[in-house]
Amino acid sequence: MRLSPQTGTAFLLTAGDTLRVIDPEGEQVADLVAFTREPAPAWLSSGRTFDYNDTLYLTTGHVLYSHRSAAMLTIVADTVGRHDFLYTPCSPETFTLLYDHKGHHPSCLENLVTNLEPFGIVLDGIPTTFNIFMNVDVLPGGELKIAPPRSTPGDYIELRAEADLVVGLTACSAEMSNNYRFKPIDFEIHDSMPSEDDRSRFRS
Ligand SMILES: [Zn+2]
Repeated sequence: MRLSPQTGTAFLLTAGDTLRVIDPEGEQVADLVAFTREPAPAWLSSGRTFDYNDTLYLTTGHVLYSHRSAAMLTIVADTVGRHDFLYTPCSPETFTLLYDHKGHHPSCLENLVTNLEPFGIVLDGIPTTFNIFMNVDVLPGGELKIAPPRSTPGDYIELRAEADLVVGLTACSAEMSNNYRFKPIDFEIHDSMPSEDDRSRFRS
């Protein structure tokens, strides 16, 4: 399936499903967030994820954790190797505070709120997103520098669900993070238990 530029979506993953997020044109960020309902409501946690992986740069083999320290998603493939988990999803305030933008500006936060609402998730329940393909350099003095994504056309990341999840996903709306051009994002869900017919192909 395809996300048009500056849009978002939300969907369910069953434990064992694999989500592939593809950058079809290159240099496009996709913000991802995830929630579990059982055994208790929990959400993706950048802090817990850094705690247990000891790196800012998450890639193949790393596990993304919930705020309750449960494994939510494992990165099982990654053709880029640079993503961000420090920055929050761009929001209306991002554009007024940082860029003095007047009037409405599409944002990942607005797109997540709109698409997650049917799942009972509201604005204040949305944590720091895992910003797929976002390229943030941490300078020796601790300063953060947003650079163009390293993804080229067709690059992708695959994440395996370690629990039943509600997932929100966007094609990011922030100028600087996407090298000043807004592109689509593609995604595919690979069932954990494919039938004989779709054993070798992705549902999209
Ligand atoms: Zn964004």
